[in-house]
Amino acid sequence: MSYRPTRMLTVLALDPSVKDGAEALKTQIEIPNELLEPGPRGSRVFLVDYDSSADSFRRPAPVRKPPKSPTVEPPDPFENVSDSGLIGNFDFHAFMTYGIVMKTLARFEFALGRRLSWSFGSHQIQVSPHAFADANAFYSDRAQGLFFGYFPSRDGKRTIYTCLSHEIVAHETTHALLDGLRERYTDPSSPQQAGFHEGFADVVALLSILSAESIVAKVVDLGLPGTRTGFIKRSDVSLKALQNSGLLGLANQMGSELAGVHGHALRRSVSLPPNPDYLKSPEYAEAHTCGEVLVAAVMNAYLRIWVDRLKPVGDDKRVDRKRAAEEGAKLAEHLLNVCIRAIDYCPPTDIEFGDFASALLTVDAELNPVDVMYNLRDRLLEAFAAYGIYPTSPGGRNRQEGSWDPPPPNVEFAYDRTHFDNMKCDPDELFRFLWENRAAFRLQEDAHTRVLSVRPCTRTGRDGFILRETVAEYHQQLKLYARELGRLGIRRPKEMPPDTEVTLYGGNAVIFDEYGHVKYNIGKSILDRARQTSRLQYLWDHGAFTAGASKDRAFSRLHMRWNTDWYRSVADSRLTQYGE
Ligand SMILES: [Zn+2]
Repeated sequence: MSYRPTRMLTVLALDPSVKDGAEALKTQIEIPNELLEPGPRGSRVFLVDYDSSADSFRRPAPVRKPPKSPTVEPPDPFENVSDSGLIGNFDFHAFMTYGIVMKTLARFEFALGRRLSWSFGSHQIQVSPHAFADANAFYSDRAQGLFFGYFPSRDGKRTIYTCLSHEIVAHETTHALLDGLRERYTDPSSPQQAGFHEGFADVVALLSILSAESIVAKVVDLGLPGTRTGFIKRSDVSLKALQNSGLLGLANQMGSELAGVHGHALRRSVSLPPNPDYLKSPEYAEAHTCGEVLVAAVMNAYLRIWVDRLKPVGDDKRVDRKRAAEEGAKLAEHLLNVCIRAIDYCPPTDIEFGDFASALLTVDAELNPVDVMYNLRDRLLEAFAAYGIYPTSPGGRNRQEGSWDPPPPNVEFAYDRTHFDNMKCDPDELFRFLWENRAAFRLQEDAHTRVLSVRPCTRTGRDGFILRETVAEYHQQLKLYARELGRLGIRRPKEMPPDTEVTLYGGNAVIFDEYGHVKYNIGKSILDRARQTSRLQYLWDHGAFTAGASKDRAFSRLHMRWNTDWYRSVADSRLTQYGE
């Protein structure tokens, strides 16, 4: 008798303001099935309903007794509950938050073909659905958790719960998952590295909600007011209509209450017109604004492909509504998988959008060498260029444009001094391999080198063929005084005192094929003079070296790695609210 692997759970499709007729738009999500304790608390997610503003614990949400037979799916506790029975129901809040965190985790594990760890060394992440009275939500690695706030609506008549926004919960969960996959992305580096955390979290959140057919149907309906069944006019599924009346219409319907809350990206992502100069402008040096450019590029590629997919469907005048929604949802799911898989092909330090573009193109070309269905890589290249994002790697002859280069033929790796079987799970064995091949990897011997992870993974291409790889990441760190920078060819920021201590970072992601050979070596050399010079200048200009500035203080405002005590002091003094 085999255990039922998944179960269905009702959640709000977007947030309570999006209605399906008179009721809030709901959807059922498929999540891993596990034996839950009240909370709910499971193997990876641990709900603790602690409210720090009221300094009180709410009782854990009760869980029903599991079915007698493990093959039977547990009932969905909220399937037939009306929205008035959901929105003020704190047990539903807890289940919905648990469900979306688990769904997001499951999406990552499916796309990457392996289990994922949180960055903070615990198996369970703590999730507080009513953590404080404020229009905010955040991930904190120190507090090992996700914290969702609540606040009064403008008219003071209702309470708005950020944990009831599907998008915000998925966004914050993605911060936590990305931190587990690439722990150095929260190091002080560049606007694009901070912007990547925000932009990627938005991309995952938006594509996750669009992979629900009921939401895509809503997008289609907004393009066609009045008709809810059967066929829709072709002109209503044009790029413009889907952008303006569809997605933007949906964003408008979501109301303005949550619009200022960090992690709510739908409106921004569709209203940013193409322009290749955004990233050059100083205004885009702020993490959220910078991240929007990445989101806009990916969402534009999504819309463009969706419209292409609808061309052969129906006739000149009309398109089957259900089919349009199915195509949109299927595409969102596919694009989301590719975006998540691309993280393995991103450098472990100092990421920029061009690196993500090269990673996406490489990973998609590996898995779907012939993509007649979506033509995804061409569409991504066009959309990225329209927003001024250019792949870091040009790609080579007979290879995908913009994809990473395999190691050059004149670089030889010695494989005979290490055992690949051990290397797949043992960081020490992998380090030995790196050390034996330090010339080929261009390691800086003076730096501290650490293997951050070694992960075997299995992925299935769209044609069903299986790709087995081992993905390893290593990191190099070199501490020195500013006066020593010149020796390495790195320019010291003009006003930086020579006795300032600086840290340089570098590192690579190494992809091994199933025979243990290096397929890609993707990274940032610690001795890249131009990059280190501009990074130090950026950090100097942004006060990261001023007295008392630590990573947390200087960067907590740039991204989500909030120090909770610091957060509280800000929230108390009402100085600023994130996202406003
Ligand atoms: Zn964020």
